[in-house]
Amino acid sequence: MGRQKIAAGNWKMNTSHSDGYFLASALTKAKRPSDVQTIMAVPFTHLGAVQALTFDKKNIAVAAQNFHHEEKGAYTGEISIGMLSSMHIPYAIIGHSERREYQKESNSLLATKLDLALAHNIKPIFCCGEKLSVRKSKKHVSFVKKQLREGLFHLTKSDVKRVVIAYEPVWAIGTGETASPEQAQEMHAAIRKMLAEKYDQEVADSISILYGGSVKPANAKSLFGQADVDGGLVGGASLDANGFIEIIHSF
Ligand code: PEP
Repeated sequence: MGRQKIAAGNWKMNTSHSDGYFLASALTKAKRPSDVQTIMAVPFTHLGAVQALTFDKKNIAVAAQNFHHEEKGAYTGEISIGMLSSMHIPYAIIGHSERREYQKESNSLLATKLDLALAHNIKPIFCCGEKLSVRKSKKHVSFVKKQLREGLFHLTKSDVKRVVIAYEPVWAIGTGETASPEQAQEMHAAIRKMLAEKYDQEVADSISILYGGSVKPANAKSLFGQADVDGGLVGGASLDANGFIEIIHSF
């Protein structure tokens, strides 16, 4: 399958169960373009309810925000990939910058998680992106390349085509500061080139690359209009149903 347009919301640690249910219901019922895949990455406690709302619907699906890197065992409070696959959860975010930062998730740990997700038939949304200091030193492209080399590039050609990549410059996440459409396009084109060099052009042309970092209704169109931007991973603005529906219609 070729590049797919995707609007993914990352609710992070927000919404009560009932507020989350109402939000997911509103998005599920909303008129959505048929060629855009809408994804809601919800807290673990909401997965069952949102999966029940979406599993038989077209173009809308639920995602987990994380899972543990071991398949099972004495890891109190953790959620395994097998638990997610037993619920038929279709997507999982891997390597969000907040987990890289606060849970110290390394590229090699994320490589393990990617393998687990693919083995359990869950589509990974693999996040990468540089901090402000890296961007200021103009090393952002090589920094992201290292994240992909160490986290993603061990995958075979057929497996890597099952991954969605989300480029999320850390300096733009939750800060209200958005990368300009040109900055997003520069990195997305660079990532696609890395994929073509590591694999081939057919692989590069089949992987969706999402932009994340303060996407909102006012800037979604100009970001999604860039040649190599296939959609967005949206944090704060995905918590407002009407705003997120506007974003879904911004392709
Ligand atoms: C995110 O959580 O992935 C994100 C991009 O957050 P925000 O849209 O709030 O910057």
